[in-house]
Amino acid sequence: MNKFIIKHITFPLWEFGAGRKRLQVLKELEKSQHWPKEKLVELQNNRLKALIGHAYNNVPYYHELFKKKKLKPSDIRTVADLYKIPILTKDIIADNFDKLKAKNIQKYQPKYYSTGGTSGRHLHFYNSQATFDAHMAAAYRGWRWSGWDFGEKYAYVWGASMDLKNESTIKKKIKTFFTENRLLIQALMFTDESLKYDCERLFKFNPDYIITYPSSLVVIVKYMKSKGIIIKVKGVITSAEKLFPWQRKLFEDFFSCRVYDDYGGRESSIRSTQCEQCGGYHISVENGVLETIRNGKNVIGVPGKVLLTEFHNYAMPLIRYENTDVVTLTDKQCKCGRALPMLKNVQGRVSDIFVTADGKYIPAEYFMVAFLEFTGKYYQVIQEKKNEIVIKIVKGRHFKKSNLDEIEKTMRKWLGDAIRIKIEFVEDIPLTSQGKRRYFISKVPLEF
Ligand SMILES: [Zn+2]
Repeated sequence: MNKFIIKHITFPLWEFGAGRKRLQVLKELEKSQHWPKEKLVELQNNRLKALIGHAYNNVPYYHELFKKKKLKPSDIRTVADLYKIPILTKDIIADNFDKLKAKNIQKYQPKYYSTGGTSGRHLHFYNSQATFDAHMAAAYRGWRWSGWDFGEKYAYVWGASMDLKNESTIKKKIKTFFTENRLLIQALMFTDESLKYDCERLFKFNPDYIITYPSSLVVIVKYMKSKGIIIKVKGVITSAEKLFPWQRKLFEDFFSCRVYDDYGGRESSIRSTQCEQCGGYHISVENGVLETIRNGKNVIGVPGKVLLTEFHNYAMPLIRYENTDVVTLTDKQCKCGRALPMLKNVQGRVSDIFVTADGKYIPAEYFMVAFLEFTGKYYQVIQEKKNEIVIKIVKGRHFKKSNLDEIEKTMRKWLGDAIRIKIEFVEDIPLTSQGKRRYFISKVPLEF
């Protein structure tokens, strides 16, 4: 299908027919990205006040919480007042699931979701249709910074089975045919045969853009390199996983293009996508508040735990939801002129994988939380054997021994009691040959 027809006719028509508001939200977001900071702050405060009022009046969990804390909705007038509301953890959500549903939930076309992980507690929740529309609109806005546009010829190399479950329905096939110029590669599992088949399809399709899971694309690029296949594209957009610098370099060299990383979970419409000019991640603050905290206090410029307050999910409002990622906010202004605040770095979702004594795989991102309040100078966690973890510590001047108990307790939560945790105090921890500091190293091979 012709790019122009998709962009201006079939895609908007399909969206209109489906009763979705994504394109309308996108239009608003494309305007507000050029607003001055004050106007963005005003929008945030207005949306926050509306959400708080709704939560207090319609969500039993928040009504009770506000009463208990002697808070009135009028106490939360701006983003700066958010600290008054306690943090919402995955455990609290699981324990108060029914109470977190709005009494008038049906009004918001709720959709049930659950996020899986390699470990830890699964999160179950409801999203409103408005959140889903805003989520996609924010994604489209960010992707368009890379030059991608509707109707563009692109390959979608995706690994989340949840997103792919409807792909084989007739309706979805018709929609894709008329509204997208897309090649789907279901990167759930690779075999030699599937790789040969997928790489041939990719070569024939000759996409202009690739939207992908970094780890899936690594497998494909390595295969194509080994077979001498060459493809050039205009841009690669990575999402859903931590993008490592070596992965970025591999893609940029192989496809002769720039890589744009996109960060944001499916539980909210707050996304951050890399700017085409400075490489920082602009946050879709029109959709919510992204805070980072350390020791319960808001921080900027240093890595902190992410708290999300999304504005559109009236079905099940999550206020100051802790998603267990670690990122660094910056107060720097971008030269592109957009006043949207930025993330300097996404530290979370680091997928150096550790293996528990009983064979479970744990990404190192879970351990990063254990070290957020680290008082020493440097640390390094090494898994030498399946049943042994060594934590090397360079003490420095401010090290407190009590810190170790907390670290061990948090690590045990993930690794179980069967693993031995050894602490070693050392003078220094050498950098890698590229001058990088590695915090987590697993030497146990993965059995998949
Ligand atoms: Zn920018």
